Parts: sequence; C-alpha cells; structure tokens
Amino acid sequence: MLPGIDHILELSKAEPSFEKIPRSVLLQAARKVVEDLRAGILRGDQCPDENDLTDIPVLDKTKAAVGKAMTPNLKSVINATGVVVHTTLGRSVLAEEVAGNMHAIATGYSNLEFDLAKGERGSRYSCVEEILCEISGAEAAMVVNNNAAAVLLCLETIAKNRKVIVSRGELVEIGGSFRIPDVMAKSGAILKEVGTTNRTHLKDYIAAIGNDTALLLKVHTSNYSVVGFTASVTLKELVELGAKRQIPVMEDLGSGTFIDFSKYGLSKEPTVQESVSAGADVVTFSGDKLLGGPQAGIIVGKKDVVDSVKKNPLTRALRIDKLTLAALESTLRLYRDPEKAVHLIPTLRMLTIPFDLIKKRADKLYKLLSKINNPALSITLVNRSSKAGGGSLPLLDLPSKCIAVKIEGVSANSLEKRMRENTPPVIGRIEDDCFLMDLRTVQEEELTTVKNALNNVLDTKR
Ligand SMILES: *Cc1c(COP(=O)(O)O)cnc(C)c1O
Repeated sequence: MLPGIDHILELSKAEPSFEKIPRSVLLQAARKVVEDLRAGILRGDQCPDENDLTDIPVLDKTKAAVGKAMTPNLKSVINATGVVVHTTLGRSVLAEEVAGNMHAIATGYSNLEFDLAKGERGSRYSCVEEILCEISGAEAAMVVNNNAAAVLLCLETIAKNRKVIVSRGELVEIGGSFRIPDVMAKSGAILKEVGTTNRTHLKDYIAAIGNDTALLLKVHTSNYSVVGFTASVTLKELVELGAKRQIPVMEDLGSGTFIDFSKYGLSKEPTVQESVSAGADVVTFSGDKLLGGPQAGIIVGKKDVVDSVKKNPLTRALRIDKLTLAALESTLRLYRDPEKAVHLIPTLRMLTIPFDLIKKRADKLYKLLSKINNPALSITLVNRSSKAGGGSLPLLDLPSKCIAVKIEGVSANSLEKRMRENTPPVIGRIEDDCFLMDLRTVQEEELTTVKNALNNVLDTKR
C-alpha cells in the first residue's frame, strides 16, 4: 500500500510551492518519504492506515522533506547558553558594519592583491598590517587562517630542526585537539620542556639554553589557571634573557585582546599591546576569540622576524581569504576608539553588558512567555553565571539572569532537544531538570523567536 515514487512525483507537479524546486530534490524527498514509512513498519511502529497513505498526508510529508532539503545545513541559531565566545556555536558574532563591509567585498572585485597607488601587484596583507601596527604598537604584522596556523608558521620559520624552550606549566591543550607539543612536532621544532607544572624559574630557562636553542616560547594558559604554590617567568624577564643570549622570544597569547578587561570589572587578561611593549619578537593570537572578529591568526612583532615569516612558502597554504580580510580590517578599525569598540563589537558588548540590562531583558522575555496560556508550562527567573568561553578568562563567573523552563509531562532532555530542533534552533542548557536560557547571549531582537520556539514545542507536545 505504500505510495510509489512516480505517484508522489506526479502529485508534486500540482503543488505550487514545488514550482522552483529542482527535480533531483523532489525525487530524493519522495524516496525519503517512502523509506521512512517502510522503516517505521519494519521497526514495528504502528502500521500506517489507509488514511495516512492518501495523497494529502503523503504530500505533506513530501513538503516537509523538501523543506528540510532546501534549508542550508549551516544556519543561524540562538545562543542561550550564556557562553559568549562559544566555540561550537561559531565563536564570535561580527559587528553590523563589519558584515556590511564583507558584503561589499564579497559581491564585487577588490584591490585584494593590487596596489592601487603603484598600479602593480601588491600584498594581500597590506590592508591590515598598518592598522595592526597602529593598535598594537608593533613594527610589523601578518595574518593567516587561524591562531593554530600562526603558531605553526612562526615555529616553522624560526625554529625548524632546532630547540624551543617552553615551561611545563604552559604546554596547553585547547579544544579541538590543538596541543602545543603536537603543533611543535609538526613544525619541525624540537620541544625543550623546562620547570615543573606549577613552578618554573628563570634559572630553568638559563640552564636549558644551548647552541641549538632557536626560541624562547611563552604560551598564555588561556583556558586554565594554576593557583596556589606557583611561579612563572614573565615575558619581560624572558625578553631580557633572550636579548642577552641573542635568542628571539615568542608569545602565543591565544585569545588576545586589545582591551584591558579589568577596566570593565572583569579579570585581567594580558593585552597584545603589553606583550609588544614587553619586547616580544613575535606575538600570535586569534581573530575570533576575545577580539570579536572573524576567524584569523594574527602575528605581530619585530620587522625582521615578521618579514621572514612572510617569506615562508607555508604562508600560501595557510593564507586568509578576502572575506575574512574584509571582516578583520573593519573589526580592527573599530578598535581605534576602544569605548566605541566595546559597544559595537558584539563579543565585547556581551562580555561587558551591565547586569541590570540582562535583568531587563530577562524580565521582558518572562513577560512574553507568561502570555503563553498553557497550564503545563512553568517558567522561573533565576540568577546564574555566564562564561566568557573560547578558552579565555577561565575563572571568571559573569553574574547573569536565566529563565528556567519546565513543561509538565516533558523531560528536560526532551525539551532541550525540541528547542534545539526548532527553526531556528534555540540552544540552552539543562540544570536541575529544567531547560535554562541565559539572557546574556540572547539578543533583544531574538526574544519573540524564543517565545515562538517554546510555543512550537508546546504545540507538538504529545
Ligand atoms: C585558542 C588558542 C590557540 C588556537 O587558536 P585558533 O584561532 O583556535 O586556531 C592557540 N593557542 C592558544 C593559547 C589558544 O588559546
């Protein structure tokens, strides 16, 4: 009794919403409808009765399958997790005007590698080098695909087949399997660990220096903190040692920020400017962590070192795309006025937003949700803390306001799943058998969408 594929295709011809749908998609959808029905029967689900197999329900199923096939896999979601730089939800949200510039570059030709003043081939990196130097105070700059690439490229350029001294307290692993020892091995540099997990002294570095030492490397332990009986060597001390022994010093800052977060009541994160002025020969950091720009690996430092990095043939393999460059340049331009940057760059805005404003937003959503007339639904406002995320400010708890949702007869797991499978998906977390939405990362314009999502969930509640 299952409908034939041909029959479904025939039905589809009369469906006006299918007018612009490619035949291949219709065919695939028809096959999926029949396969799903067959799989249900084989699983022992209730057998479809004749009514389920008439034209209208079959066409509805086909419409659903076509709808799914026609929506992009990569789509916008609502981040209600409270984690600002959310690594699995796309890290940083770009500023509005940054997206505008990207659009202009994306939809037309540009002077990407054309020097308009000279009328000859130019460098792809020149559009950001000047502004990076301006903000960071460095002599030279360069950008690649991401910070992992920046670290790899710098190590390969400076220290291939030679030793790099790193403290045992700084051999970090960050999410997505970036590990300092592994990246170093791939770059051909030889890791020379010094000190212990909790304490490393200048004398440890001194004792480890030999003829084959190419680099002193400092890695910012962005996603964890060693507390208690600890000692580490400052970048400045390493720079002094490096100068004495004529060994360059590199710092991998990881998140990397141009803003001193302690000014906004958050904990102190080392800034790029501080690392540059401490005299590091090269500093690397991400474009899409605390900087709030697109995915990129930024390299700033002394001219001779950055120049040799630029000449490395690997740069071609790690190079940054023009859309990223457009986004990076316009994000960096916002930093010329740090006060404005904090408001215009969503990552910074969400990190520094006053608690009162989050509370107001939470109250607004609470009111909206209260209008849903369903006795099974219970909502509560609760105080919780959000996280910076992206492997930055690991110890920092940002006071925030959440809405806890419970639906009678629906488990928290199932509620979380249904919100996640909504269009658009709403991503929250489960706590104490409730579905929790943190308002720090939910935007004002998204509140109605959140309400609609909850309505959809209640409508499909069985
Ligand atoms: C995040 C991080 C990296 C990798 O940066 P990506 O931009 O994700 O490639 C490298 N080092 C440290 C210390 C980091 O925190």
